[in-house]
Amino acid sequence: MDQEKEFNKIHTWIVHKGYHLIVDSKIDNGIDHKSKIISLNSRYNKTDKIYILLHECGHLLALSNKKSKFFLLKDSFEEGSASFKVFRIEEEIDAWNRAKVLAKRLNIPIEDDKWEEMFSAAILKYIKWAAK
Ligand SMILES: [Zn+2]
Repeated sequence: MDQEKEFNKIHTWIVHKGYHLIVDSKIDNGIDHKSKIISLNSRYNKTDKIYILLHECGHLLALSNKKSKFFLLKDSFEEGSASFKVFRIEEEIDAWNRAKVLAKRLNIPIEDDKWEEMFSAAILKYIKWAAK
């Protein structure tokens, strides 16, 4: 698998959606829908970068399909409320699912074991955050 090519495929897709990609060693991964910027920390290995980037694209897809309950409703809930936390977790799981569909569409091979490992670790972080 040519990971550089896979990465560029996703980058091109992001640009077509009107978003920008910033890769830097000092930033956190994430997506900002207002400024249309996807941020990716450059310290990950190539496979992780591809999976993380796909995940952020999953958030982009959820919002552009008006399916992101979290981003559409978050302003109507208090930050510590049950709805805010549960919708956030739902949003994260949804973004991972959309990411996998996008990978298939872009013909990017996914190693299931590695993917599930990253997915679980990411979701567990949010569950711990929600349980605080
Ligand atoms: Zn996410």
